[in-house]
Amino acid sequence: MPELPEVEVIRRGMSLMLEGRAVRTVRVYQRRLRWPVPRTLGTTLAGRTLQRIDRRGKYLLCRFEHGVLISHLGMTGSWRIYPDGQAPERGPHDHVDLSFDAALARLTDPRRFGALLWHAAAKGDVARHPLLASLGVEPLEPGFDGSLLYQATRGRSASIKQVLLSGLAVSGVANICASESLFDAGIDPRVPAGRLGPRRCARLAGAIRRVLGEAIDAGGSTLRDYASADGTEGQYALQARVYGRDGSDCPVCGRPIRRIVQGQRATYWCARCQRR
Ligand SMILES: [Zn+2]
Repeated sequence: MPELPEVEVIRRGMSLMLEGRAVRTVRVYQRRLRWPVPRTLGTTLAGRTLQRIDRRGKYLLCRFEHGVLISHLGMTGSWRIYPDGQAPERGPHDHVDLSFDAALARLTDPRRFGALLWHAAAKGDVARHPLLASLGVEPLEPGFDGSLLYQATRGRSASIKQVLLSGLAVSGVANICASESLFDAGIDPRVPAGRLGPRRCARLAGAIRRVLGEAIDAGGSTLRDYASADGTEGQYALQARVYGRDGSDCPVCGRPIRRIVQGQRATYWCARCQRR
């Protein structure tokens, strides 16, 4: 599933190749994604210039003067950009082609849990769109720090690992990132979130930003169902320090990495380096 780092990598690739270009034509081959792709998308976008692509959580926001094209990749979605505008023959899972001046963007999504929606500027700020309004604080935004994490975890008796995955305290921290960040911060993943003091919350916030930053630099964080806009696969799982490495030596202390299951998701950690 494309997680925050992959979506950010896709955003960067698409921005480089598409910003400032005008849409020529839109071809929708399959409207039935998670919600129907608007029938009028072609007339809405033709001749309009894509000004900028932003990201909010795992949503890509393609900004035009008269509105925002909202894209979510669901479980298996991806955008491929063909810089010369020449795409190979369409496959069964290719659902939308956006033709630009000298570039083509193709949306592929085998399981069709993704979404492609139009938000007209006349309807107000896209940040208040029902899909976006309730998203938690972004870990890569300046507002995310230890004190925010501290506030958001007060009174929570669930483990810090599960609170991170829930998205209640911060949005966009997925399973690999949670294990790696807790290792980086030296925090036992089983600790009740509400027991963490301000200093450990500050360490954890820093670790989350660092791990996400590294994942983005490395091109994403999962190897499955994902390729960035230029088709290269994400490599981050290969560089994980604890994730998927149970039985291997801890890179810090040399003790074996352990695997436990929390909320039906695997957690990898070092019982010596990570404290309650
Ligand atoms: Zn260790």
